[in-house]
Amino acid sequence: MIPFFNYPALFEQRKKEYLEVIHDVLSRGAYIMQQDLFEFETQLAEYLDVKHAIGVADGTMALLTSLMASDIKDGDEIILPSHTFVASAAAIHHAGAKPVLVECSADHLIDPDSIVKAITDRTSAIMPVQLNGRVSKMNQIEEISENHNIKIIEDSCQSLGAKYNNRFAGTFGIAGTFSFFPAKTLGCFGDGGAVITDNDDIADRVRMIRDHGRDPADGKVKLFGFNSRLDNIQAAILSVKLKYYDEDISRRREIASMYNEKLKNCESLSLPPPPCDGINFDVYQNYEIQASNRDGLREYLDLHGVGTIIQWGGNMVHQFEDLDLNRDLPYTEELSRNFMMLPMHPMLKDEDITYISKKIIEFYSK
Ligand SMILES: *Cc1c(COP(=O)(O)O)cnc(C)c1O
Repeated sequence: MIPFFNYPALFEQRKKEYLEVIHDVLSRGAYIMQQDLFEFETQLAEYLDVKHAIGVADGTMALLTSLMASDIKDGDEIILPSHTFVASAAAIHHAGAKPVLVECSADHLIDPDSIVKAITDRTSAIMPVQLNGRVSKMNQIEEISENHNIKIIEDSCQSLGAKYNNRFAGTFGIAGTFSFFPAKTLGCFGDGGAVITDNDDIADRVRMIRDHGRDPADGKVKLFGFNSRLDNIQAAILSVKLKYYDEDISRRREIASMYNEKLKNCESLSLPPPPCDGINFDVYQNYEIQASNRDGLREYLDLHGVGTIIQWGGNMVHQFEDLDLNRDLPYTEELSRNFMMLPMHPMLKDEDITYISKKIIEFYSK
């Protein structure tokens, strides 16, 4: 059996260290907004070479607090791809703006041409979603942002450490966002998230919004906020994980190379690009392929003990009728019928990849 994701194996791998930090935090009774949180924030900011990293409750709150901190007004329109988690659109909605969903390109990421077509005089921001550990075509998106004077706020929840032209995901706009959901490349043991920014004003506001609107400097409430802090214990666990992060990403890239090599002649599949040192440095949060007869392939793999997933159940955000965000997005719909994800996490063994690839080739040669 090769499950799609293996939570217990990930714990076992560094169990001793996790239990040590958990013991340490509990012994000190250090739960909310304590030293471990501030240390993790400093380490994350250093890792990404940004001025501020601010821990929040989860990735969705990272999106919402960044939007609230960046002068989004009621009725503003924000453009994002429909091929994303509903959380990206939900954050925009809760910030008082309207999510405007557009097409993705063959790379599964937001299509720059489709952004331009969706711009109106109410558009105030673009939210590129750096999906699957890969960064969108940011040179074109930055150009659009400059030409039309609209901000960029990144949903980089899936792309910690990914780069485009040597710049980290999350550093292109006024704020970047991360999720530490357990299955994310940097996952904690529960929910967690962070906002990164070089803008002092936005950082100050996010720090207040996450803590009931209180200004950390004098404790005074300066705006209406939430309780949306990153738990101290999760921050301590994340500091352990961050030490090994580059190692974990190398392993993900190695696994992606193996899939690419073994499946390259399989004409029924379209694969993500293999790791390279060119414009895109991918961290492979997911290995999302397009497969003809996708449902047949999933069934066959399942029968042979391989777990796969269709991201978000195969629903693109515009397809949730009750949300009333429907748009005409034929290309996204066409691609979405073939999307599926193969197992991708650092605990996979080489022989797992060999077995999975063999079964895929076997399915298509029947
Ligand atoms: C995981 C994720 C989020 C939200 O993260 P949570 O921590 O689950 O709230 C937002 N956007 C994308 C693209 C994600 O994958």
